[in-house]
Amino acid sequence: MFGGRAPRRSDNTKYYETLGVSKNASQDELKKAYRKSAIKNHPDKGGDPEKFKELSHAYEVLSDPEKREIYDQYGEDALKEGMGGGAGAHNPFDIFESFFGAGAFGGGSSSRMRRQRQGEDVVHSLKVSLEDLYNGTTKKLSLSRNVLCAKCKGKGSKSGASGVCHGCHGTGMKVTTRQIGFMVQQMQHICSDCRGSGEVISDRDKCPQCRGNKVTQEKKVLEVHVEKGMQHGQKITFEGQADEAPDTVTGDIVFVLQLKDHSKFKRRLDDLYVEHTLSLTEALCGFQFTLTHLDGRQLLIKSNPGEIIKPDQYKAINDEGMPQHRRPFMKGKLYIHFNVVFPESGVLTVEQCRALESILPPRPSKQLTDMELDECEETTLHDVNIEEEMRRRQQHQRQQEAYDEDDDDEGTMPRVQCAQQ
Ligand SMILES: [Zn+2]
Ligand SMILES: [Zn+2]
Repeated sequence: MFGGRAPRRSDNTKYYETLGVSKNASQDELKKAYRKSAIKNHPDKGGDPEKFKELSHAYEVLSDPEKREIYDQYGEDALKEGMGGGAGAHNPFDIFESFFGAGAFGGGSSSRMRRQRQGEDVVHSLKVSLEDLYNGTTKKLSLSRNVLCAKCKGKGSKSGASGVCHGCHGTGMKVTTRQIGFMVQQMQHICSDCRGSGEVISDRDKCPQCRGNKVTQEKKVLEVHVEKGMQHGQKITFEGQADEAPDTVTGDIVFVLQLKDHSKFKRRLDDLYVEHTLSLTEALCGFQFTLTHLDGRQLLIKSNPGEIIKPDQYKAINDEGMPQHRRPFMKGKLYIHFNVVFPESGVLTVEQCRALESILPPRPSKQLTDMELDECEETTLHDVNIEEEMRRRQQHQRQQEAYDEDDDDEGTMPRVQCAQQ
């Protein structure tokens, strides 16, 4: 639509196929798919290193909303060309370790890693204005979260000991049997003594700080740095800052940027769009106006001498678009979409029309002769509101369709023939 700049389209399904997910897979589905195949294809486990690399790269792109959008829209080549800063791929082992921790498959830590559960990530959406994304900003957010009790270090007891629950022998589940006639029915349910944890702390030994809960609430202020040029949907992650729980790798707090609509500017990747209305005189004879940019600067925008602007025309100013993320000195374009307002009917007198006609390009040369005019029928032009009429027509069509369906269902009514106009 806006010619010239759009990179050519290339393959944009491969990454989805590599991970074995559909094109509209959620972040969770992507994570699960990566997790599963990455374990299977890890070179330490005899997997193919190339396949492992492909998996990691596919995940790296699709898990980043900005890169995913570029990939969906323009394919792999666009990322290689460096749009959205997607050029530098990460070491595939780094991505793997971000999931499973360092040395997940080797050394003494592996048994510990496997015993620990992965805590949930906490995802918040963070509303930002276009000004925030243009200039960059820092937002302070106060959150409360669970942390391991400092007094008992997450043990829940004064002595540091916890007993195995007698009710379930530490399994967290209880099995009860019930005899009905000759049949014995077995039922499994979560142990009520320990609420499924498999351990109990005696009332006497409970930590006074957390009352045996192992965690306490903490208020925390996070400073979220919104960098210049970040995109709608981009994530800012605070690793290991989510709720803490015993024997659990703490999840991340993730902020997802939500761009609020702007009254003046629209953004598309690194470009900005603004609407401007000119009078007919300005469109024909030249114009100048000021535009306040997102950082408060006043831009003077003026036509070139002799330039005529047509309705619906676009013009662009280089380097006045959005800054690129991580390369804020590189900026996109600012497009101006012009609308031209014509004078109302009746404004021009006959003399004025004559004066205009002497200046403007001449009418088409063919003039109708009196003979030809005699053979024509006179008509009248009426004003129409074309949107309104189209809307009414569609509504009518829908009603007609609904009526026809009813007719088919019942099958008893004779079909009414519309009168020919
Ligand atoms: Zn129990
Ligand atoms: Zn405690």
